[in-house]
Amino acid sequence: MTEQTGEHGREANGPGSNAPGERVVTFAPATGAPLADLAVASADEVRRVVARARRAQQAWAVLPVEERAHRLLRLRDALAEHIDDLVDTLSLECGKPRQEALVHEVMPLLDFTGWIAERAPRALAPEGTTLHLMKHRTGEVRHVPRGVIAVISPWNFPLLIPMATVVEALAAGSACVVKPSELTPLVLLQAKAIYDSTGLPEDLFGVVVGTGATGQALVDAGIDHCVFTGAVATGRKVAAACGARLVPCTMELGGKAPLVACEDCDLERTARAIVFGGFANSGQACVAVERVYAHQAIYAHLLARVRELVAELRQGDPARGDVDLGAIIFSEQLAVAERHVDDAVKKGARVVCGGKRLPGPGLFFEPTVLADCDHSMTVMRTEIFGPIVPFMRVQSEDEAVALANDSTLGLNAYVFTKNRAAARRLAERLEAGSVVVNDVWSNYATAEAPFGGIKQSGFGRVHGEQSLRDLCDTKYVSFDRLHPLSRDPVWFPYTARSYAWLRRGAGLLFGHGSLAKRVGSLF
Ligand code: NAD
Repeated sequence: MTEQTGEHGREANGPGSNAPGERVVTFAPATGAPLADLAVASADEVRRVVARARRAQQAWAVLPVEERAHRLLRLRDALAEHIDDLVDTLSLECGKPRQEALVHEVMPLLDFTGWIAERAPRALAPEGTTLHLMKHRTGEVRHVPRGVIAVISPWNFPLLIPMATVVEALAAGSACVVKPSELTPLVLLQAKAIYDSTGLPEDLFGVVVGTGATGQALVDAGIDHCVFTGAVATGRKVAAACGARLVPCTMELGGKAPLVACEDCDLERTARAIVFGGFANSGQACVAVERVYAHQAIYAHLLARVRELVAELRQGDPARGDVDLGAIIFSEQLAVAERHVDDAVKKGARVVCGGKRLPGPGLFFEPTVLADCDHSMTVMRTEIFGPIVPFMRVQSEDEAVALANDSTLGLNAYVFTKNRAAARRLAERLEAGSVVVNDVWSNYATAEAPFGGIKQSGFGRVHGEQSLRDLCDTKYVSFDRLHPLSRDPVWFPYTARSYAWLRRGAGLLFGHGSLAKRVGSLF
């Protein structure tokens, strides 16, 4: 690590270094105990891993998708045999409660793997098309494996986020090389060891450990697509690097999920959803409830019930008994949380509960609820990524929508109402990649649901059938259907006669009273 190394092993500024001899040192966030000391992959090593992945991919891509999918079920079964080991590592490495490790990461990964294996043959089957104009030809849209997919991932869900894309990429006939977060590399290395035990081609799934410099080297190593999940600022750099190489990329960036609590919402469910949605994973989730817009008629009741529920939460080291809230993984997030609270209080917000970090050595921030917030405060405008939920009072649906959309980010949005028509209306109006009604977070764990953002939350989608196709190149193949003419009338030579013939055709097809105009489209 460089001299810029942060308290818990991460550089405070800049991408770090991947010079020979550099190491990644990690700590257990709940206790501060040292965890791992790993060699950083140099640029040469990254290139070698990508080259090996490419060779393995060439043999993998020619297997029928049914066979690839069938073999991926071995990975699911092997992961299932190690559920407890994966939960243990996640809980230690992230300081998250074991139930969160199980329900937010291990279970969805097992489910996604089975679902992707089942769906891939259908989702990637060639699609024949009947041509509306050129009746003498037929077309076929094919989904061709792209090659080597780079995955650069963050620290908050260090198993599910990278491994879901590994499974999607492999099912789609590509290879995958993952650069896990330097804060949480262990669980991914464990998943790689489990993968290697299945007999699947080892080089098809590579892992390179390191900081941002190793991520940069990966983008530079001749990859064919990059799936990046992380902060907006880093995403800009990675997208620019991909752009310079004309490599397609998927950007899964920050979130600032609004929760609109309508006048008629089920107050108890809404309060519980806010507490879970704001404080699960200690708020370190791109889908966390980051701001609540509550109708003035229910504002005080909702806030009071949220306060009661927060008072029941147990926080601490998950290794020392049942807790609801675990640690903060990245030490700098404690200072970020403090700055948000200070700024909000200075501008008139009221601390309903929490508001400060707990004494070390573990990294903990109290579950914090802020009342009477407004959009002059950073807590309502920029990503928190910690256990803070700010409340703002609104007078109407229109005001809630305007405020919710007044953001540069658009990942998840939540609506709580008993009125289905209002829910549909709000879902239409809210600017987000996903809108979830009367629930929180669940779309991320839904295998069928394409997940991703709009605005600066990114572009492209992971999960769902769409993720499989997004990781493929589209190849259009055009066949002749009828025996083709030796002399095609639209080819050379261009003559007055051929022009007149084609001009007559244009009139018949598109002119006044033409068939196309009468039926809307031609056939
Ligand atoms: P980050 O951007 O700091 O790091 C993400 C990854 O990028 C890490 O592996 C890091 O080493 C690597 N990296 C850093 N600089 C790089 C560079 N120049 N080139 C290539 N790789 C580089 O993000 P983080 O702090 O690890 O994660 C938190 C952020 O991730 C939050 O903003 C959160 O909203 C976002 N996130 C988004 C989603 C989503 O699906 N949209 C999911 C989880 C987290």
